[in-house]
Amino acid sequence: MHADSIAAHLAAVHSRIREAAARAARDPADIALLAVSKKQPASAIRAAFSAGQRAFGESYVQEGLDKIAELADLAIEWHFIGRVQSNKTRAIAEHFDWVHGLCDLGHAQRLSEQRPSARGPLNVCLQVNLSGEASKGGVTPEALPELLAECRALPGLRLRGLMTLPAPAEDEAAQRVPFGALRALRERLATPDCPLEHLSMGMSHDLEAAVLEGATLVRIGTALFGPRLS
Ligand SMILES: *Cc1c(COP(=O)(O)O)cnc(C)c1O
Repeated sequence: MHADSIAAHLAAVHSRIREAAARAARDPADIALLAVSKKQPASAIRAAFSAGQRAFGESYVQEGLDKIAELADLAIEWHFIGRVQSNKTRAIAEHFDWVHGLCDLGHAQRLSEQRPSARGPLNVCLQVNLSGEASKGGVTPEALPELLAECRALPGLRLRGLMTLPAPAEDEAAQRVPFGALRALRERLATPDCPLEHLSMGMSHDLEAAVLEGATLVRIGTALFGPRLS
């Protein structure tokens, strides 16, 4: 996609965030935009960066590492949003700033141990499965409190909040259900020393529903960059 189109799409996504925030009587400054650049060329990331975007999300470790190397001249905050695998934890711990799909204590322990101390703790959101679909990954709401307690004790991680990736739903009311459930979990489990300040939820098709339910970080791919290369 042409750089001008990416800049225009970025502006359009920011206005969707502003409009949804207005409906929810929220400050749009409390909603961060993560540009999901998986299966998009490095040139598209450069174009979005030039238009002011700083945080980018990748789902595949090797593809992400290639782009991190190629774009090392840009001050990008890199988020890993894919499924964590044991044999990839070192690369994630060494090269990314955030991880959104964490839902396994073994992976959390590896990421914590492998995080280079010079980089400071790795920011993590725990993924919660609220649609009961095994394919989506995520810890069940019932298992979340224990995982949360164990992850909080890991020195290489900084627990920032909760993430969810619900099954697609057609209308806004249905889309809001799992997002509202994530917000309720946060309200139940947050403590003063672990406020779980981030709710990472909402993608291109359900951004508004997520903002209405309190999203603080929306993960947007196709609405910014167009269809992904396969
Ligand atoms: C691909 C992906 C997104 C972005 O999806 P779009 O529909 O392209 O906005 C967001 N979150 C996760 C975890 C993803 O894998």
